[in-house]
Amino acid sequence: MSLSNQGLATASDEVFMGTYARYPAAMISGRGCRLTDADGRQYLDFLSGIAVCSLGHCHPEVTRTIQEQAAKLVHVSNLYYTEPQTELARLLVANSFADKVFLANSGAEVNEAAIKLARIAAGPGRYQVISLAGSFHGRTLATVAATGQPKFHEGFEPMPDGFVHAPFGDLAAVKALINEKTCAILCEPLQGEGGVRPLPPEYLSGLRALCDQHELFLIMDEIQTGMGRTGTLFAHEQLGVTPDIMTLAKALGSGLPIGAMLATKEIATAFTPGTHGTTFGGNPVAAAAAVTTMKIMLDDGFLPLVQSKTRYLEAQLEELVSRFPKLLTGVRGLGMIQGLVLSEAGVAVGGAIVKRMFEQGCLINFAGNAVLRFLPPLIVEESDIDEFAAILSQVLNEF
Ligand SMILES: *Cc1c(COP(=O)(O)O)cnc(C)c1O
Repeated sequence: MSLSNQGLATASDEVFMGTYARYPAAMISGRGCRLTDADGRQYLDFLSGIAVCSLGHCHPEVTRTIQEQAAKLVHVSNLYYTEPQTELARLLVANSFADKVFLANSGAEVNEAAIKLARIAAGPGRYQVISLAGSFHGRTLATVAATGQPKFHEGFEPMPDGFVHAPFGDLAAVKALINEKTCAILCEPLQGEGGVRPLPPEYLSGLRALCDQHELFLIMDEIQTGMGRTGTLFAHEQLGVTPDIMTLAKALGSGLPIGAMLATKEIATAFTPGTHGTTFGGNPVAAAAAVTTMKIMLDDGFLPLVQSKTRYLEAQLEELVSRFPKLLTGVRGLGMIQGLVLSEAGVAVGGAIVKRMFEQGCLINFAGNAVLRFLPPLIVEESDIDEFAAILSQVLNEF
């Protein structure tokens, strides 16, 4: 097989189902914030595999952990205990509101687990989950039903029963949806795929209050916002609202597939042997990678540095807004998930801007048909941010 971008693209398109509109680059290797493609071109990665490679590509400590664990034990099934799994779950419990953990392989799977736990813990007849317009919770049938964006449902109807959506930001509308069948409210602290849209803090605390009044579970999907992405280990910590159930995935394993569903012990007791399970979930290699990832993130100084680099990035983005008022209307985000909100004229060329950025060697994306989304690795340096802002400024100039 010819190892060029074109060769790999042609060979892939022949045999893969067409679920992805890919850029014409085959990535060969990565280091820190940089990727190299099959033609030897370098990219500055401000997407991190969509908030996955938060420690950058091939962080040496994570790579060593994976190599060592792969040489020791790769898989045994969840019929037995393994050390990496236990260490990971203990770290998650010690550093969150939760008492109990369930491990799976992906975001959608841990959201499925959260929905199942909420239903079984709420008891018979209480199965309905309220989620928000603009949300994204995954691609399995239940999580896509929970996703509040009709474009993800189209062609796959009927959606599974038990999911209703409330318009974004309207507490009265959420309240009106609550009935005797409701078991949970599911939300992201900040909608990532939906367009880098933070939930206003008073709205989030209103959702918490509704859950308390009506004995519902508050499930927070921190799959994208968790693991230090927003400058605290979990986004809800800085928003003053604590969930009952939380889901994590994306950056948890620094690129190895792993997800975690966390809950308080009162709720978690509803899961008993046989009620839920997974073959690969919490696989020793993925769990070991997650342990090392968490230890690095919990090291003194890591999260404060994310916060200071956030301020540096935000300042650069604010400056671009003031220089390109026809295209950009503002900056929004939390920590290292940032978006430039496009004007109507900007939205019309959003896809083209991302494509030009790619051609100029910088990876970003266009989220929610509304914003340019930036998810740099958390280890990004100020010089990388300067380089990114210079490329973006040059590209915006073309439009
Ligand atoms: C990515 C994402 C998911 C889905 O995760 P997968 O690993 O792709 O199944 C769910 N919720 C949120 C908020 C996400 O960002």
